[in-house]
Amino acid sequence: MKFEVTILGSSSATPVFNRNPTAQLLNCNEKCYLIDCGEGTQQQLIKFNLKAARIDYIFISHLHGDHYFGLIGLLSSMHLNGRTKPMQIFGPPQLLEILEIQFKYSDTNLRYQLDFFPTNTSASEVIFENSDLSVKTIILNHRIPCTGFIFEQKQRQHKLIKDKADTISMAYYTLLKKGMDVELPDGKMLLSNDYTTPAEAPRSYAYCSDTLFDERYFPTIKNCDTLYHEATFMNDLLDRANETHHTTALQAGEIAKINHVHKLLIGHFSSRYKTLQMLLEEAQSVFENTELAIEGRTFQL
Ligand SMILES: [Zn+2]
Ligand SMILES: [Zn+2]
Repeated sequence: MKFEVTILGSSSATPVFNRNPTAQLLNCNEKCYLIDCGEGTQQQLIKFNLKAARIDYIFISHLHGDHYFGLIGLLSSMHLNGRTKPMQIFGPPQLLEILEIQFKYSDTNLRYQLDFFPTNTSASEVIFENSDLSVKTIILNHRIPCTGFIFEQKQRQHKLIKDKADTISMAYYTLLKKGMDVELPDGKMLLSNDYTTPAEAPRSYAYCSDTLFDERYFPTIKNCDTLYHEATFMNDLLDRANETHHTTALQAGEIAKINHVHKLLIGHFSSRYKTLQMLLEEAQSVFENTELAIEGRTFQL
């Protein structure tokens, strides 16, 4: 099953050095989930040949502009482009008021249904679920209420081996696909292992947008496969990071290490860094399997 994320923006605060504010597009089993929507997200989707129309779910971490100033433009374009299918948006409660006032004064009556689900910014909870995955909030520690999101794939059923399955009654398929063995009326056993191959292990992707290093959210991200974590500053600016409730690249590496994640992506780079290699090396000094969240890159999760 496809499970990948494309980075659309990884700059903090302002667009600079051709870097755009935060946005990511997650594709799970050909369903598209937009994570944050900084200014310029529409342009980035066009640039990387990703269809905005395919997005059905949007998750907004917090109300600093670099994480949602692109949202009203994206929603308006969807309206102008004739969208009719509903859109689900998850974000801080006040986001709805902001959107409504923009629609009100532009006299926009959306052609599609917009379903808004306010996030609880004080307790981690499952906010979305379908047959492919579930999404749980991560309670981050930022200057204003902020949640990250962890996308966890569900365990898939075993796959039938067609040639073998053809030799038995379809009535047994359901149990075999669940990994259960079946006893026939004559006492003969059909072993799930003989008729199916196990599904891939479910994978998880945790997105930690803006936050101070804070152990309280570690249990939610523990052992995840891929962790995206902000790394706004180098560690020589730790004081500045603490003041602004951000993380350094070194801390991001430590967080990945402490929580036994498989892979770390770092982003949300300060505008003071024209090149990013130093940030990468700093994170890698504690957690080797780190990569930069470079715009346009797609990571298999
Ligand atoms: Zn930010
Ligand atoms: Zn912020």
